[in-house]
Formats: sequence, structure tokens, C-alpha cells
Amino acid sequence: MPYSEQTVQSVRPWSDRTFSFRLSRPQDFAFENGEFVTIGLKREGKLVARAYSIVSSVVHDHLEFLSIHVPDGPLTSHLVRIRPGDSVWVNSKATGSLTLNHVLPGRTLYLLATGTGLAPFMSLIRDPALYARHEHVVLVHSVRTVAELAYRAEIESLDNPSLDYVPTVTREPFPTSERGGDLFRSGGLSQRLGLPAPDPEWDRVMICGNPSMTRELTHHLRDAGWTLTNHRGIGNFTTEVAFVVHHE
Ligand SMILES: Cc1cc2nc3c(=O)[nH]c(=O)nc-3n(C[C@H](O)[C@H](O)[C@H](O)COP(=O)(O)OP(=O)(O)OC[C@H]3O[C@@H](n4cnc5c(N)ncnc54)[C@H](O)[C@@H]3O)c2cc1C
Repeated sequence: MPYSEQTVQSVRPWSDRTFSFRLSRPQDFAFENGEFVTIGLKREGKLVARAYSIVSSVVHDHLEFLSIHVPDGPLTSHLVRIRPGDSVWVNSKATGSLTLNHVLPGRTLYLLATGTGLAPFMSLIRDPALYARHEHVVLVHSVRTVAELAYRAEIESLDNPSLDYVPTVTREPFPTSERGGDLFRSGGLSQRLGLPAPDPEWDRVMICGNPSMTRELTHHLRDAGWTLTNHRGIGNFTTEVAFVVHHE
């Protein structure tokens, strides 16, 4: 049985579109920071399961997730109502392309996230090994509304001189309203942080965002001489879509 029944420990709403929740961690559940796992709810004996990036780190004895609420979504229309003590089913195998080893060590590591794409980076930025491989880490989180800046206080309280956190909000007044991808591409991001312009020889990029942002940035980076990590080898950038758009 690849799925085990886990217990909801807590739920934390962020906005009308997003919430986080914490589950008990299955015994012997192994994963790497940045990976995702399939989780689900059983309804009338049938499991409805979806991929979820793990927010918590390998050192934690719980599993935490950051979720969208899709009003008519087969999973999240029910998941949004979970309460402590309820059951969520967790697959035994985690995987993904946003782990430490998915980019070469380097100077500045740019973590570019939109929406729930922040999740895997929450796991990574608390890993001391990340800062052993990269001199500096820049985390950009782009969302529509201020309330969707999940974990903002936690990230700010990390108070790590090797980490720059750049929140951007596109549909409400906010100091930075550009999309993170645009900010990176224009060179404005490194400039405002006083960092050298991103260079594939020295710097690294991880992207976890909506499919169009991920696609656009992948094209941009490839055109600029960056190499995507794949089965042929470890490059200087890696991506994972934060969700897949289903067409009816
Ligand atoms: C590798 C991977 C990792 C993922 N990690 C997460 C995660 O950490 N948190 C999370 O909430 N979802 C994540 N997802 C998406 C997740 O698997 C589900 O799609 C989501 O939970 C909605 O499920 P649903 O059954 O309610 O609706 P679905 O039928 O799965 O989705 C319906 C529609 O909602 C939109 N949608 C789905 N997920 C999102 C999202 N996260 N943000 C914005 N729009 C979305 C899409 O347009 C999609 O077509 C991930 C997907 C993949 C492939």
C-alpha cells in the first residue's frame, strides 16, 4: 500500500485562495528538501490525490503543505475543510527536481516562485547545506494579494545575512508590483540587491511557478546561455511547475 493514513495536526488559512496544513509524518518517510509527494483524501472509499511540494524540512517530525483552494477542484474543494484530527493520505515516495543537487554549487542562487510555488523553497531555505553550496540566496515570491504572501513573517524572522527575500504583489498596492520573472529578466532584481548581473557561469536559478511563467523563464534562460538540469546532467538552472493546467 503506497499510501498511509496521516492525521491533520493544524490548519492555517492565509487568504481566500490559500491555506497551509500540517500532518503527522509517516514512519520511515524519507525525502529531500524541495521534493513533492502525492497526498489525498478518501471520499466514499475512493482516493482523490494530487502532487504537493513539502514545505517542512527533513529535520521536522511533521509534514507541512501550502495549498491553493480551487472552488470546484476535485481535491481542494474538500481539502480546504480539513480540521485537526481528520485523515489525509500520503504516498510513501517523494520526488522532484528542486533539490540541492539539481543545480551545481555557485555564487548566487535565485529561487523564483509564484503562488504556492513557494512551498519547496520554504523547505530549502531552512537547510544549512544550501548556504554551504551558494554564497548568497535570493528568494522571490510573487503573488496577487498581500494576504497570499504566505510565511512572510517566518521568512523575515530567519534573519539570515546570506538570504534576500523579495516579495512582490501584482494586484494590490505594494512596494514591488512587478512579477518576479520580469524583475529577474530585466536585471532589476540583482541591481536593487547590489549583486552582480546573473551569469550562468557563476549563478544558479530554481523556478517553481505557474506553467506560463516557468515556460517563459526557461526560454529566456536558455537563450541567454543557461543549461537546464536534465537526465544528461546537472546544469545551472532547474524548474518544476507549481501546478498543471487541466483543459476540459
Ligand atoms: C509537481 C507538482 C507540485 C505541486 N505542488 C503543489 C503545492 O505545493 N500546493 C498546491 O496547492 N498545489 C500543488 N500542485 C497542484 C496540485 O497537484 C493540484 O492541482 C491542486 O491541489 C488542485 O487540486 P484540485 O483537485 O482541487 O484541482 P485540479 O483539478 O488539480 O486543478 C484545477 C485547476 O486549478 C488550477 N490550479 C491547480 N493547482 C493550483 C495551484 N497550486 N495554484 C494555482 N492554480 C492551481 C489549475 O488551473 C488547474 O487546472 C502541484 C502540482 C504538481 C504537478
